[in-house]
This record gives sequence, structure tokens and C-alpha cells, in this order.
Amino acid sequence: MGQVIAARFYAAKQPLKLENVQIPPPGDDEVAVEIKAASICHSDLHTLAGRQVPATVPITLGHEAAGVVSAKGKNVTNVEVGDRVGIDYVQSCGKCQYCLRGKDNLCDNFAVMSFNREGSWKEEAVVPSRHVHRLPNNIGFPEGAMLNCAVMTAYHAVRYAQQPPGASVLVYGLGGVGLSLLKWAKIAGATDIIAVDLEDEKLKIAKREGATATVNPRNGNPVQEIRKLTGGGVDIGYEVIGKQESERNTISSVRKGGQAVLVGMSWDPIPIHVVDDLQVPEVKVMSPQDHLKSEIPEVLRLIEIGRFTFSDAVTHKFPLGSVNEAVSVLQNRTGNPGRVVLEP
Ligand SMILES: [Zn+2]
Ligand SMILES: [Zn+2]
Repeated sequence: MGQVIAARFYAAKQPLKLENVQIPPPGDDEVAVEIKAASICHSDLHTLAGRQVPATVPITLGHEAAGVVSAKGKNVTNVEVGDRVGIDYVQSCGKCQYCLRGKDNLCDNFAVMSFNREGSWKEEAVVPSRHVHRLPNNIGFPEGAMLNCAVMTAYHAVRYAQQPPGASVLVYGLGGVGLSLLKWAKIAGATDIIAVDLEDEKLKIAKREGATATVNPRNGNPVQEIRKLTGGGVDIGYEVIGKQESERNTISSVRKGGQAVLVGMSWDPIPIHVVDDLQVPEVKVMSPQDHLKSEIPEVLRLIEIGRFTFSDAVTHKFPLGSVNEAVSVLQNRTGNPGRVVLEP
């Protein structure tokens, strides 16, 4: 508490500024968390590129973080000082009609760290205690940090799609979310898992993690290949990039009566012919939003019992003071980075 260093966003395409910010003592229902790991996500790159501008500027960037509880308010009972915790960047009110229905990802007062709440690229954060959770002992702080975004988003997508056991699935794009999604699809009982990516290295990892077939669009039309592999298309196609072409290809790779689940964030319209693409083949298109609070304990338990394991290695670690360098490693894909983590 007191003055801490934070990486603050002022404008797109500008370096972040390292500044002292004042961290107040936690309120009655809040905890202070000393940040041990804060990971960099592709959505942070969207912000830095100006595709998704924060609601308030300047703002501390970053939404994936884990650390140690350093202080807590008098009403807090879910964690103790000294606990290793992850911070959930999706911060709902718990009181509106959507929160009361368990759809807190649609909260009327929805707040997201680094969008309209101070982010996590700083030495210490004060957050509502309902948005921190104890980490299982078998994961470290970097895993605890990325769990809140990539792993949870992928988990919610599979649940939201109501993927049945025995489904054939497509995972189009193998970044942090895509690779997690592949694992969840397998845990949910998918029989055929087709992984698509432009990087052969990622396809190799996908094979190791349970993909039954891989397709690199550089080698030919991926839709034809996927339809051939599955005898007419997959039951569920997950798109995890957020580009027009991959979204279009995912919709076209779904069998009649199947579902296309658009997980990647995208601001570009995609051409859809209602009759040919959706109506006649009765294809459903859905797009899940973040994750539900109720899904977090499920995921923590699946990690704790070893059902879900992290394989997307942390390839780069930087001190907070080198945040701009860390960001540029991901932007320029210097040295083929996996996860890039700040250690404040
Ligand atoms: Zn993220
Ligand atoms: Zn709410």
C-alpha cells in the first residue's frame, strides 16, 4: 500500500509510462494483493494498437495477475493474508438481474480491469475480495495469472457451446486461448479434434495435446481439408483468432446442424448468406463472452486434480520496468514467444 509503480496507458501506439500510483488500504470488502506475476495477453495488444480503447484514460494496463494477499478488509472471509491468489479481471456487481441469474458475464455494471478499472501491471492491487481466489498448490504465479484469461475463456466457450461427449471439433487458432480450448474440448469428451494454425510448431504442440488431425492453411484450402477429414464438417467449430477469414472458414467447416463458436475478438464484419450458410444447413453461430464467476472453482478443481495441465510455456519473463520491451516481444513475435510474463 502507499506508492507503487504501475505501467500506465495514455494513448494507442505510444509506450506505456511507468508511474507512481497511490494504492489505498483495502476497504471492508476488499483485499490488497502483492502482484508476483502479470501476464501479457493479445487483448492487451489490441488496446495498445488502438483497436479497443479503454473507457478511462490514463489507466494501468493488464488484466492477468496473481500474487499474495498483503492485507484485507474486515468483512473478508474467503482469503487470508499470505494466501497465494489469482485475480479475476471480470468484475461484476453481484446485485443486478444478470448477476442474480448467474450470468455475471453480462452484468449491467460490468467492469473489466484495464478497460474501466485499474489494471494489474503494477506492484500491488486492491480489488474486491469476491474477485480473488486461492490458487491450487500445483501451479505457480505465472500459471495463476494466465488462468484468469486464456484458460477461463476457453472453458466458458466449451460450456457455453454445450459440447456433448463424442463431438467432433475444430479449433481454429492455437494461441493461449486456442490451446486451452483444445484441452477442454478433449476433457469434455471430443473424439475428433482438428487443429488449425499457420505455424507448424503450434500444430506439433496441438498434436501432443490431443489433436487428432492438424491443418495448416498455408498448404491448401483448410475448409476443403476439414470437410474431407470429417466427411462433411465438424459438429462444433471454435474460432480462436478473431479474423474475418478464419471466422468465415470456421462457419464453412461446420456440418449441417452444427455450431460455429466465435471466441476470437474481432471488429470486422463477416459476410454471411443467411440461406446458404445458416438456414438451409441449420448452422448455429454463437459467441461466448469472457467467463462466469461460477466456472472459476470448477477450473481450479480440475487443475488441482491434474485433469487440466498447463503446457503453453512461459518463454519470457521481464521486470515491470521493462514492460515496453516485454510488449514488443509479443508484438514482433521476437524469438517465437509463448507466454510473456511481468514479475513486478
Ligand atoms: Zn487476457
Ligand atoms: Zn451485476
